[in-house]
Amino acid sequence: MKVERGVFAPARGDLDVARLRADFPILAECVNGRPLVYLDNGATTQKPRVVIDALARYYERDNANVHRGVHTLSRRATDAYDAARATAQRFLNAASADEIVFVRGTTEAINLVASSHARPRLAAGDEVVVTAMEHHSNIVPWQLACEAAGARLVVIPIDDAGSLRIDQAEKLIGPRTRIVAVTHVSNALGSVVPVARVVELAHRHGAVVLVDGAQAVSHIAVDVQALGCDFYAFSGHKIFGPTGIGVLWGRAPLLAAMPPWQGGGDMIRTVSFEKTTYAEPPFRFEAGTPDIGGAVGLAVALDYVTAIGLDAIAAHEHDLLAYATERLLGIPGLTIVGTAGDKASIVSFTVDGIHPHDIGTVLDQEGIAIRAGHHCAMPVMKRFGISGTARASFALYNSRADVDALAAGIESATRLFA
Ligand code: PLP
Repeated sequence: MKVERGVFAPARGDLDVARLRADFPILAECVNGRPLVYLDNGATTQKPRVVIDALARYYERDNANVHRGVHTLSRRATDAYDAARATAQRFLNAASADEIVFVRGTTEAINLVASSHARPRLAAGDEVVVTAMEHHSNIVPWQLACEAAGARLVVIPIDDAGSLRIDQAEKLIGPRTRIVAVTHVSNALGSVVPVARVVELAHRHGAVVLVDGAQAVSHIAVDVQALGCDFYAFSGHKIFGPTGIGVLWGRAPLLAAMPPWQGGGDMIRTVSFEKTTYAEPPFRFEAGTPDIGGAVGLAVALDYVTAIGLDAIAAHEHDLLAYATERLLGIPGLTIVGTAGDKASIVSFTVDGIHPHDIGTVLDQEGIAIRAGHHCAMPVMKRFGISGTARASFALYNSRADVDALAAGIESATRLFA
């Protein structure tokens, strides 16, 4: 492959990509003897030095359990954990830090809402509406809740480009709808869902809207009050933070009306064998020792992204996406799956005669990390009549040189399998 590696052709936009890359130690790694080209950001993002250092510093200097101790370290850990909640509040523009529940990630956030908000309310004949482009974690928890209640899961279809059929949403969201659960950005297609419009339709019928922001938060500035949704979920590891920590934002009155979903320490007010009373949100939903270090690392990651600026990140990634689309479409036999007008940072594709896993394996030999398979979105694959795609997903540290490496790698795969 004749690609200049390690030399950047910075994408247009305001980001100094070369400088940003230096923040991420792993990007200096070689994989299979080649400089790493990391294009699997949809699965998880790499961590900047500031996040890695914050985790180490927390464990080196502040580590203790939160909320229970009278000693200095416990107070320091509690302060850091509370500060992380305030950072998440600012990041989402939530009205109050009490609306921020720390969870393990998007999956746990959605399960929390499905268990604690939906299950007690859903009745036979009610409907939960999702879209045809959801990740399994925004399908299965609703299926479980619907099964338990005798409610029905309704699916808003997508068109051939992978855009949500808003005309269908208007028909399918109706008086029986109790919850509408939509992704903000599709992990398999990159399509951006017009969330504000969906919220308008749902609220017209008194339904509550949960937005799965797993693929959105590192690409689009999110303001939950402006979006108008009722719950918003995201994972720390997809926004340069640690694994094992994520955020559920919920409107205060909704959280206040939800019963606990797990019992244990820290989520109670008083416990006796006769009667236990529960803490207010968010603590009611955080039973047991939380991932304190994770929350500290997440807050640093959110501040890192905020300092760079999500508008600058979005402009850079849009440029990369346009460049990647043009480069990849020039490869004979390559089809891009997901061609919506409004897309964020993801190019899913198939190549005639080559299994997506084989594309991934050939690219790996060149040090290029992409993802291949159904991306936990089997219904999307079914919609397009395929078993899987190869997927390149970009982050703020990717450059046009990475796209060139990807295109050259796919071309080698086509030659190998010709
Ligand atoms: N929702 C979407 C759109 C995703 O892409 C993912 C992960 O890929 C998830 C939910 C689940 O996130 P997690 O595994 O961090 O809980």
